[in-house]
Amino acid sequence: MPIRRLDSTYDEEPIGWSECFVTSSVKRQIHETAGFGRAPPQPERVNFRISPTPGMGLGMFATCSLKMGDLILSERPLIVVPVGIRADFRKPPGFTDEQYSQAALFEWEKNLEICVKRMFPENRKAFYALTNSHTEDGSGPVIGRIRTNGFGLGDGFYDKECGVTAGGYSATCDKMSRINHSCRPNTTHSFDVASFSFQLRATRDIKPGDQLFYSYAEVSLSAAGRKQELAPYGFECTCASCSGDTAKSDRIRTNLVSLVCDNRLQYDTWARKPRHLRDNKMLQSSLDLLSSLENEGLTSTPYYPLLVCTVSEIYTQLGDTENANLYLHRQEAWKTARNEEALTWDGILGKVKNKLNLSSLSPLI
Ligand SMILES: [Zn+2]
Repeated sequence: MPIRRLDSTYDEEPIGWSECFVTSSVKRQIHETAGFGRAPPQPERVNFRISPTPGMGLGMFATCSLKMGDLILSERPLIVVPVGIRADFRKPPGFTDEQYSQAALFEWEKNLEICVKRMFPENRKAFYALTNSHTEDGSGPVIGRIRTNGFGLGDGFYDKECGVTAGGYSATCDKMSRINHSCRPNTTHSFDVASFSFQLRATRDIKPGDQLFYSYAEVSLSAAGRKQELAPYGFECTCASCSGDTAKSDRIRTNLVSLVCDNRLQYDTWARKPRHLRDNKMLQSSLDLLSSLENEGLTSTPYYPLLVCTVSEIYTQLGDTENANLYLHRQEAWKTARNEEALTWDGILGKVKNKLNLSSLSPLI
């Protein structure tokens, strides 16, 4: 993707092509996407480099100051494949489940090899240069690299005939797959089907020389839960939330949704009071919570802009237009970073009031 002729060269499509192993229904969905084939947005200048980093192999580093929402990189994936292994043969008589699963894995590897062989030589070289941490679980060199480096394409890209989970897809990139993990990520990405590309953006202000990070694990899990999710990648995270006061960090992370929603419910009560009874305590407790999220490195979670929205509304209620606009702009920058409709308080509180059980809301990265 997009469409490539046999004699196509990089001169006509400098950002390259993605090899796709997709069902005919997904192919149709892609081609029917409004604006399909358009050029991906590009940052005004190159603002990152890829360099070795101790204990982490290669990593991505900012080469200039970045603000929340700034575009760091647009990239077409090298390869897009279904998330799960799809066996196209029944279990042969006499095969154990284990033997069947190994045979299916072998067969799937052969299918994906065909895809890799179709790549431009530069893309194929980039693909095989990626790390493979799945060398001991029966994965072949192609599946192993996809499992190590693939990004889920999310709810906007799946086979509707199979459903969001079973029909999901994974994309492996050249540059973006070099981004290392931190439970305190400073970037997020979105996938634009029309230009068939990822956009990597900053989720907080970043200084030149800072390493760029993305979280491979659900950030609202405890340190122990994240360690378990990260085990297949073959490393242990040493970020401040994993190596510091994990009890304090766990309290914020595992209660993230209820902390932010409780704050909003308190705000609703506060905002209904007559103007002369509204003191600064609501503002202070909201700013304190916002600082806790920022100090914990949780600005990539969708609950962060919700809290920023609450702070902006408190300032509006207190007649401080300057600060109200400052936080409103921060919320807008975050929405730009995710390139999606952010969660809204109307939607969230509808669920909260129906269930009266804040902790049952599932957090999203
Ligand atoms: Zn960590």
